[in-house]
Amino acid sequence: MPSLEKGEASRSTPAGEAAVPARTVPPPVEGVLLDMGDTLLEEGSWTWASLLEEGPSLPGPSPLIPGVGETLPLLSRDYRLGLVTNTQEAGRAEVSRALDLFGIGRYFSVIVTSSDLGWRKPHPFIFEAALAGLGLPPSRTVMVGNDLANDVAGAKALGMRTIHFRWSPRYPALPQGEEERPTLIIGDFVELPKALQRLQALPGPAPRAPGDAGEEDDL
Ligand SMILES: [Mg+2]
Repeated sequence: MPSLEKGEASRSTPAGEAAVPARTVPPPVEGVLLDMGDTLLEEGSWTWASLLEEGPSLPGPSPLIPGVGETLPLLSRDYRLGLVTNTQEAGRAEVSRALDLFGIGRYFSVIVTSSDLGWRKPHPFIFEAALAGLGLPPSRTVMVGNDLANDVAGAKALGMRTIHFRWSPRYPALPQGEEERPTLIIGDFVELPKALQRLQALPGPAPRAPGDAGEEDDL
């Protein structure tokens, strides 16, 4: 089995110039999974019945979180987008309709709800269902959400890189352990495209689930 040293030695290196050790390049990001509550739509100001009936006409401030409407079109040009959400009763049809009411449903290739699936975040099954829908392995997909325990720890356990959207005071802002520590943190949704670019230059995902070699055939 060839070693790194042998691989380096086989390169044509000018005399007197030391060979540069190969760097570990993280896999490129091709997909982004997003949480819904307090990541795209603000929680607490609506019920499903009122949301589906009134949509953007709901009284009070819009549930659509600032920056989401203008940022999702930008993201969808560069990444496959998926939604993974814990719901009490709402299934894919209701979630899809709600997103459409706010003009953002078209940007998602896949929508997975815990109500349909029977498993809630942070269980790996719900992330795996969304990844299968995107057709991407965890190593090439980033999870974005406001909840460190459900979104960050759940996705990180599968080997995904994570971005904590630290926006709402409804959930803890600080990780309770290493498993909840995100790759990056943003405080404004419009920061997401730049954060994803920055994340690609960072070292690859550390904890990987057994069998995830970071290749396309991981699924
Ligand atoms: Mg949430």
